[in-house]
Amino acid sequence: MAMRILAKSKLLRPENINVIQKLKNLLIIDFEATCEKNFAISTPEIIEFPCVAVNTKNWQIDNVFHHYVKPQINPILSPFCTDLTGIMQETIDNEEHFPVVFEKFQNWLEINGYSNDDSNSSGFVTSGDWDLKVMLPYQCKLDDLIVPDNFKQWIDLKKIFFNANQYYPRSIKDMLRKLNLSHEGRLHSGLSDSMNMLKIIQTLVTNKPTIQFDITSHLCK
Ligand code: AMP
Ligand code: MG
Ligand code: MG
Repeated sequence: MAMRILAKSKLLRPENINVIQKLKNLLIIDFEATCEKNFAISTPEIIEFPCVAVNTKNWQIDNVFHHYVKPQINPILSPFCTDLTGIMQETIDNEEHFPVVFEKFQNWLEINGYSNDDSNSSGFVTSGDWDLKVMLPYQCKLDDLIVPDNFKQWIDLKKIFFNANQYYPRSIKDMLRKLNLSHEGRLHSGLSDSMNMLKIIQTLVTNKPTIQFDITSHLCK
């Protein structure tokens, strides 16, 4: 009898209850942009646009969007940028410019039911605020585009990491190190960075199933 009560109470411990996530899908984004050493570029442009869609019921990949983008102002990549991101000149030369890729991305969101037209069923996840607070608005301004409303809020993985571990991480690498996870792929490749963020998310929910992935940041607040 005592054993049965113990087993039952263990099952009901809060950390063993899987929280129902508010968002059905997480959309992990990690842009790469044109760059120079010491951040000395005046007009960075997006050159890699990855998005890994994750189902929050099983924490597996639902879908992947991945496009390289041809920059317009500085179409020739600096050797520093190629060294940092692994993106070669040939990789972007025949790609489309940002407005076309961004339209493709919005269609992809729509087709897959991630665009939040009816409900807030999806949320973007980034590591830090740079991607959606700085880079996307900047790129949209360069191309005379309006930032769509659904890109004006996101989940900062570093903040979620802090809530779970009372430690504010410096970077993706730092989060991996703290969780004893190895880095997979190439650091500063947008798709690898996104996949490593997925690994971090999967480990966070395994370690702490009560964690809630909800919006942490807004563009205008
Ligand atoms: P990340 O997502 O950390 O790979 O970085 C996103 C973008 O920030 C890169 O594609 C670069 O444009 C810029 N960046 C990151 N680290 C550096 C660095 N050490 N020096 C110059 N630019 C950088
Ligand atoms: Mg990044
Ligand atoms: Mg990156």
